[in-house]
Formats: sequence, C-alpha cells, structure tokens
Amino acid sequence: MFHSTNYNTENVDFKTAILRGQALDKGLYMLNKIPKIDQERIFSFRDLKFSEIGYNVLSKIIGKSIPSDKLRNIIKNALNFEVPIEHIANNDYICYLDRGPTCSFKDFGARTLARIMQYFLEIEEKNIIILTATSGDTGGAVAQAFYEMERIKVVVLYPRDEISDLQRKQMTTLGKNVTAIGIKGKFDDCQRYAKKAFADNELTNLNLSSANSINFGRLLPQTLYYFWSYSQIVEKKNEEIVFSVPSGNFGNLMGGLIAKRMGLPVRKFISAVNENDEFPNFLETGQYNKVVPSKNCISNAMNVGHPSNLARLIDLYGGQIDEQGIISRQPNMQKIRNEIISYSISDELTKITIKDFYNNHQKILEPHGAVGWAAVEIYRKEYNNDHKYRSITLETADPAKFPNEIINLVRITPEIPHSLKIIQNKKEFINPVEIETYGDFKGFLKNNF
Ligand SMILES: *Cc1c(COP(=O)(O)O)cnc(C)c1O
Repeated sequence: MFHSTNYNTENVDFKTAILRGQALDKGLYMLNKIPKIDQERIFSFRDLKFSEIGYNVLSKIIGKSIPSDKLRNIIKNALNFEVPIEHIANNDYICYLDRGPTCSFKDFGARTLARIMQYFLEIEEKNIIILTATSGDTGGAVAQAFYEMERIKVVVLYPRDEISDLQRKQMTTLGKNVTAIGIKGKFDDCQRYAKKAFADNELTNLNLSSANSINFGRLLPQTLYYFWSYSQIVEKKNEEIVFSVPSGNFGNLMGGLIAKRMGLPVRKFISAVNENDEFPNFLETGQYNKVVPSKNCISNAMNVGHPSNLARLIDLYGGQIDEQGIISRQPNMQKIRNEIISYSISDELTKITIKDFYNNHQKILEPHGAVGWAAVEIYRKEYNNDHKYRSITLETADPAKFPNEIINLVRITPEIPHSLKIIQNKKEFINPVEIETYGDFKGFLKNNF
C-alpha cells in the first residue's frame, strides 16, 4: 500500500497510485513498507540478465498487482536496451543509462510506466491524458514511451527557451496522440501548471495523470540499474559501494535509496547537483530554501530549484515537507547525512571536468554525467579512507544531445546515435498556442480535449 507524503488522504493500492500519479492532497505516493531482498539473493544477481534482476526486484514491490508473465513481458519490452558498465580508473566506474530510444536515463522510467499504465487501463476500460512537465529530457522520453498507445493522450509542457533543439524535436516531431507545448517561462513554471491542473476540479473530467517523477511508477524501474550495475562489479557478498547520482528532481536518487532499503549494500550516495544547490545547503544546515528562480546551467535537465521528490526523500527519513517546500516535521538529519552526501558543481567545474576527462581517458562525458564525475573526484579527496570502496557514476544522457558544449570543450563532434539522427529532419508540430499563464494553459486543455 501507498500513503501520501502529505498524510491528508487515504492509503491506496499500487494500481491507484499509478493511475492517479499525484495523491489527492497534492502529496506524492510512497510505499508504506519497503520489501527486503536478502544478501545471498542480491549477490546471486551476478549471474542474471538485466531483465531477470528486474523481475526479481519489481515483483517484490508490485506483489500480485500484475501477473508474473505480464510483468516479465513489460520489463522485457520496456528495458530492451544495453546498460553498459565501464571501468574508468582505480576504483571508479561509469554506468551508462543513455542507451534507450531517447538517449536519456528517463527511458527506464517512462517506458516501464507506459506499459504498466496501459495494462491497468485495459483492465479498467478507461482513457487518460498524461500531463507532464519537462526540464529537457523527461518530455521526450515520456512522449516517445506513450506514442501511439491506445487509451492514452500525452500533453508535454517545456520551457521554450531553455532546452536544446534535439530535446525539443524528440517531443514535437511525433504528433498523433502527443501534444508538446513550449511555454514562455521556466521548468518550475511548467511543473507548477501541471500540479495546478491535477488539483483543478474543473478539469477532473479529463482524467489527467502524471508521468513525471511525481508518479511512483517512474521510480520503480529506477531501482533496477542500481542492482544491475552493482551486480556487474561486486566481488564479495555484502560488499559496499558508492553511487554518484546526477540529481535534479531527485527521482534517480530515490530509486537508489529504495534499492538500499531493499538491501543493496551502498556505502554512500553522492547526490551531485549543479548550481541549484538547495539540497547540499539543506544537508548542511537542516534548513530548506528553494532556489528561486532556478539557475540555468549546462546540465539543463537538472535546473531544478525545488525538487519534487524531496517530499519522498524526507518522508523516507521520517519527516514531512509540503509542495511549497515547508517542513512541518524534521527528518532524521543524522541518518540522511550518513547515507547521502551532496556537492554542488559549478558550470565552470563541469566544463573543466569534461575537458580533463577527455584528456585523461579519451572518452566524452556530457554535462550531467560530468557533474556526477566531478562530485566523485571531490568525494575521493575529502574521504581518503573511502578509497577502498568502488564507485559507480551514473551517466544519464548521450553527449550528442549537447553538441555545442562538447565541440567547444574537446573540439570533437559527438557521434549522433541512430535514434536521434532520424528525428533531426522530421517535421515539427510546433506550439498550438502562446501560453504565459496557468489560465492560458487551462483554456487550451478545455478547448482541445
Ligand atoms: C532528468 C535528468 C537528470 C536528473 O534526474 P532526477 O531524477 O530529476 O534527479 C539528470 N540527467 C539527465 C540527462 C536527465 O534527463
């Protein structure tokens, strides 16, 4: 069962949490109890394929909500791409989460969620509209994941002036059941409109649902690459390792924290953020202050001044924070600090890291992965004792999505993966309307759906 992080509405089952996305009291759904997997089993994952690990882990959480043959199929079809791990230097590894169709780690969550939702909608004979706000990559991953799915329409809100051409084209070249709207504003505005629409009584007949990391179904599959990458490098049972997680809305990190609660031996999570430093400041001071407006950094999918998944993170440690960012019950700060360390990486350091990484290893990091790698380097300097623990940095996107930065920094044009190549010259279905306020957006929804 799932509770709302605002504790102001009743508990629901998995199906309801998935189809609703956000809880009725505007909180986020979170597991009441996190199931455990024993160490023997986790160690034996070394011998399993990704999809089998996926089934082992997800069936623990989902229980009987989805029959096992169906669940196996969902995982196999959704996560049908490579997840390579590479040894870089000393005890430091990179796990590449960018091999899905939109070349971002969001393919894990979006593709799995799409199939789980469709399964439940068929049973209920219902139709829904997926409303999602994107800072860059979610929109493309969600739009592609739900493209041409029966019973589902998709509306994506993105900040018109803050995303790359390729990111935009991943949303605007689809058409059919996908509508992409570039708004004059920031990602935080997009997120605000989406949240408001979900809570708007005049829009209930639209059956709006969310595929943002607000939706618990997005988090579920984000536990899997932690188990997988761990199992690829672990040598002893119970061996602890360090994960560095480039963080924006903290959905990726939440996947890791849930994996740890399930039993995965994690020495430390490094939450690597860009110049939007509300989280490292919170860890340091115990006071939470949003960054308003959020700062524009080159790791643009992490330009988040008030991460939505903080509600789940704080809930996991016994606290409570509402959607405005007001903490009504302080979480166990000491426990959080034990398990998570967070560094804010400036754009300047991100760029230096991309350059140095290329010079030292002849490989190209993109800005998000570079933030993660830079944070590991700081951690290695600060915690000399921890050198014996191996680290895995999660690389969350393909460098080809940020060609200008890469060309400027390392003078190489990153090779464009096939899935990105084919959308480059496709026709865009651009902005049906100019949207500057929530009222504009609501009007658009009412007139068109
Ligand atoms: C969304 C995204 C992130 C941040 O992930 P969160 O789950 O929002 O913390 C990092 N890198 C890339 C490329 C992304 O698309």
